[in-house]
Amino acid sequence: MQVMQTDILISGGGIAGMIAAVAFGKLGFTVTCIDPAQPVISRDEAGADMRSTAFLQPARALLEEAGLWSRLSAHAAALQVMRIVDAGGAEAKPRSQSEFNAADISEQPFGWNFPNWLLRRECLAEIKKRPNITLRHGVGVKDVLTRSEFARAALTDGSQIESRLLIGADGRNSTVRQALGIDVKTIRYGQKAIAFTVTHPIPHQNISTEIHRSGGPFTLVPLPDVDGTPSSAIVWMERGPEAERLLALPAGEFEAAMNARSCLLFGPLHLNGPRTIWPIISQYAHRMSGERTALIAEAAHVVPPIGAQGLNMSLGDLKVLIDLVKAAPDTLGSRNMLDAYHKARHAEVLTRITGIDLLNRASMAQARPLRDLRALGLNAIYGFKPVRKSLMQLGLGVKR
Ligand SMILES: Cc1cc2nc3c(=O)[nH]c(=O)nc-3n(C[C@H](O)[C@H](O)[C@H](O)COP(=O)(O)OP(=O)(O)OC[C@H]3O[C@@H](n4cnc5c(N)ncnc54)[C@H](O)[C@@H]3O)c2cc1C
Repeated sequence: MQVMQTDILISGGGIAGMIAAVAFGKLGFTVTCIDPAQPVISRDEAGADMRSTAFLQPARALLEEAGLWSRLSAHAAALQVMRIVDAGGAEAKPRSQSEFNAADISEQPFGWNFPNWLLRRECLAEIKKRPNITLRHGVGVKDVLTRSEFARAALTDGSQIESRLLIGADGRNSTVRQALGIDVKTIRYGQKAIAFTVTHPIPHQNISTEIHRSGGPFTLVPLPDVDGTPSSAIVWMERGPEAERLLALPAGEFEAAMNARSCLLFGPLHLNGPRTIWPIISQYAHRMSGERTALIAEAAHVVPPIGAQGLNMSLGDLKVLIDLVKAAPDTLGSRNMLDAYHKARHAEVLTRITGIDLLNRASMAQARPLRDLRALGLNAIYGFKPVRKSLMQLGLGVKR
């Protein structure tokens, strides 16, 4: 049987996999990206991903370098202020709030928010323009054989592809990771997130708002206006059974529940599209590389959606890979390169997972004394400017 050849094979054409394809394609490599699923690229199609992604400053630099930012910028909603509201008192209303303004540490906003379906659409359009990138849908990796000179992937359609570098971007249950025998550590919270978009009468003024009570944060992230009406993406985290109950409510009852939870900070919210639900875990692979293979994005690490870290960490992976390859293109997929990748990323990923895990546990607190402690902690951080600034830089990933 003929074995197809490519410089880089990317297993998984999610947002991380497609951005990786564009970024490596830009460097002149031949790239093949495969995914068994067809991408959903409009918000009204069944199966549309109603989440949004807030790209933080370092991610923007990578998207610019890859040539993707010019496609995306017109659709961006900037995040200038991060507001954290504590509504953990006896009644569901704000009892304290802290605002972190990007102007304190930078001339740029913290980040820029985009609907996930739109990111898929724009990545796909860019890939179609690049003759050295092949994107195949309807076929996935079934198994992997590696040797010191190549990784050979057996695909679900019976064909095989050999590459100098195999990138596992095939999600939290990564086939590539399993084929390489790399174990994961998984932390389960019994929590789920409902993701949806809303319109509201009060403008968001580029403020991203995280409201804490119990069960997990309720986060509103700015989106561009919809027909002149302010709009936000919402991620509402709750314990699993409560999230399932909310998801099943008729739209009117769901709106009443979300308005109570939102404390009406932007006035009454109106649902603007379907609701989707996501299980929440933390997970990391014990290694981020193997022979001729790098794991990136959720194949390597999964975090609860707090502080817009997930996909931003994935672009952090990609940035390290790109820099290593740019420094020595001939070493693509070599042991030295992949060891350096693991070393540069693994400790950083573990630190972020630990931090987000703590924040999530604090946000889930049910008991009043714990909720009071959380509010005190937030006020202490906010009241002390150097700590506040350091935390903002850390959250952005601009400080080591
Ligand atoms: C509610 C919510 C909100 C979030 N908000 C943010 C945010 O604001 N900012 C942020 O940075 N992150 C955010 N995240 C995290 C972010 O959405 C994820 O990190 C990101 O979507 C994961 O992308 P991925 O490409 O790694 O995985 P996926 O999107 O799961 O893509 C993996 C792809 O691999 C394919 N695949 C599976 N098996 C195979 C196989 N055998 N062969 C080939 N392909 C295969 C799948 O079909 C899929 O398309 C959020 C997450 C959640 C749950």
